[in-house]
Amino acid sequence: MLFDLDPYSIDKQTKHHLLCDELSRLTLHHQQHCPEFGKLIQAQWPSLSLPVKQLSDLPYLSVRLFKQLALKSIPDKQVFKTLYSSGTMGTSSRIMLDNQTAAVQSKILVKIMQQWLGKARLPMLIIDHPSVVKDRSNFSARGAGIQGLSFMGRNHCYALNDDMSINWSALEEFCNKFADGPVLIFGFTFMVWQHFFQQLIAHKRKINLPKATLVHSGGWKKLISQAIDNNAFKKIVNQTCGVSKVHNFYGMVEQIGAIFVECEYGHLHCPSYADVIIRRTHDWSVADYGEVGVIQLLSTLPKSYPGYSLLTEDKGVLIGEDDCPCHKKGKYFNVLGRLPQAEARGCSDTFEVGKSS
Ligand SMILES: [Zn+2]
Repeated sequence: MLFDLDPYSIDKQTKHHLLCDELSRLTLHHQQHCPEFGKLIQAQWPSLSLPVKQLSDLPYLSVRLFKQLALKSIPDKQVFKTLYSSGTMGTSSRIMLDNQTAAVQSKILVKIMQQWLGKARLPMLIIDHPSVVKDRSNFSARGAGIQGLSFMGRNHCYALNDDMSINWSALEEFCNKFADGPVLIFGFTFMVWQHFFQQLIAHKRKINLPKATLVHSGGWKKLISQAIDNNAFKKIVNQTCGVSKVHNFYGMVEQIGAIFVECEYGHLHCPSYADVIIRRTHDWSVADYGEVGVIQLLSTLPKSYPGYSLLTEDKGVLIGEDDCPCHKKGKYFNVLGRLPQAEARGCSDTFEVGKSS
């Protein structure tokens, strides 16, 4: 069973075979259980033949479609939890989970993170405020991420107050107790940058957690506008907190669980259960290694909603497969920011015609 495999152990032929099989099965499942998806496939991929021989033959949906339609492959009464994307513009995505999909997501997220953090639960400093996870049936992307990662930790401490100021007494207590050993620090990239590091700097304070690992996610858009890249970010982490182990990860609320974690060489790694394809925006053909294009994400996890193959609005570049110097198997890539708005709209226009049929 695919979910029982280690995240970074299978070679490319084995993986290709397993994913073609599993994702073809998922295509059929969603065609049968999500009427809108079924119509869309009929309109857009009339000659689709399953099982596919290439992963690039699989149909894909624009991630924007989840903002417009409540796509699900389960009856209403089985909806166990709804996730919402942060949606800076317009409406946000709604992702509907049943018990089974939610459980698989948590299980896989933990399995992947254990490769980077080890199996023991670590004292966990969360760079956010506690209210972000209060409503347990309706989660924001941030709440869902924090709840997912919190399985990796113990003695959870929220570093911020509800007004985004630092909770100094909680932070000091955490550092006094746990600074000698390994700890996990987790937060969303912009929250960590703006509401933690910038405040530490403004107050001329430092904390010392030399054995900590910082895991962060959530996009660089706002940081790039402040001219902060991954290296500058890591330098500030080290200067303000004494932390040298930092892992960014890429993932979206539409495909939670099978995340793409950055290794020590700065490459995002595909786990066994997920994959990326980079496509050229002018004709949607598959780009070569080193060629910039739009990122398509494949995940074997989404069963309660048809989000297993998504065209994102992010630009990326595939660097290699199975041969990263960190020795983890799988494709590895970089994300290069958002597509320009016009091109992003182009992606979704192309794949939304099924809606009106
Ligand atoms: Zn690597």
